[in-house]
Amino acid sequence: MKRCLACGGYYNSTYPNCPQCHVKPQLIDGFEAHAPAFARESSGFKPEYFSELAKLEAANFWFKSRNAILVWALKTYAQVFGSFLEIGCGTAFVLSGIAAVFPNAKLFGSEILTAGLGFAAQRLPQAKFMQMDARDIPFKDEFDVIGAFDVLEHIEEDQQVLAQIHQALKPQGIVMLTVPQHEWLWSAADEYACHVRRYTREEIETKVKKAGFKILRSTSFITVLLPAMMASRLLSNKVPVKEYDAQAELRLPQYVNSLFLLLLNCELALIKLGINLPIGGSRLVVAKRI
Ligand SMILES: [Zn+2]
Repeated sequence: MKRCLACGGYYNSTYPNCPQCHVKPQLIDGFEAHAPAFARESSGFKPEYFSELAKLEAANFWFKSRNAILVWALKTYAQVFGSFLEIGCGTAFVLSGIAAVFPNAKLFGSEILTAGLGFAAQRLPQAKFMQMDARDIPFKDEFDVIGAFDVLEHIEEDQQVLAQIHQALKPQGIVMLTVPQHEWLWSAADEYACHVRRYTREEIETKVKKAGFKILRSTSFITVLLPAMMASRLLSNKVPVKEYDAQAELRLPQYVNSLFLLLLNCELALIKLGINLPIGGSRLVVAKRI
């Protein structure tokens, strides 16, 4: 169902506008805009970031390995699903990875800024993209799976976002989250990326449970690269945030990129065996709506 943000009523997802108040989301840059006030600017993201990102992510170890763990988690914990919404879909790199493995799933992507959606719609024309605020999701009991990958750490009201995800999922629906982990890894990279926090395991798990979910899996990942991450962060902390080069970590020599990818593949093999890694640059949480 759709949830009308104007009158609070619920209505059939196939209707273009709310039958109670007749309000229809406006179009901005060709996309349905559910939070038009934020479509072109937000304190959380920089619009120019998307064009830089689209070029770098396709070959990069971080994005490739994160797609591998996400596709595996979907196969394992969601198994068969009809619909998937990714909140904060960026340039749809994750959604295109999912589309390749689950060609029959109906895919949806959202962003707070319309800037990234143009790239996303080009990359994955079969998916539906919309502009929305994750703190006010215009759906109820609608999706089988909702993913938010490295999104919650940008938002002050993360508990509210989790409650909105809970409402937008079908009963028994699955939420998949990745978040950066460990406050002691906080660095210029977090400041540049407009992060509000890095999580502890306890904080993210408590918030997910409080929103009405049962945790199916919670593990660190990017564990094998912690020493490299710490070295890179220590060096970058010496540089003022204004001069910080966020893409330096993404523009690695090819042999380093390949080595990191290999190490992360080994790490994923451990996670697939059921081992929950205690520390790591990020945490994956998969949970079910109860
Ligand atoms: Zn309405």
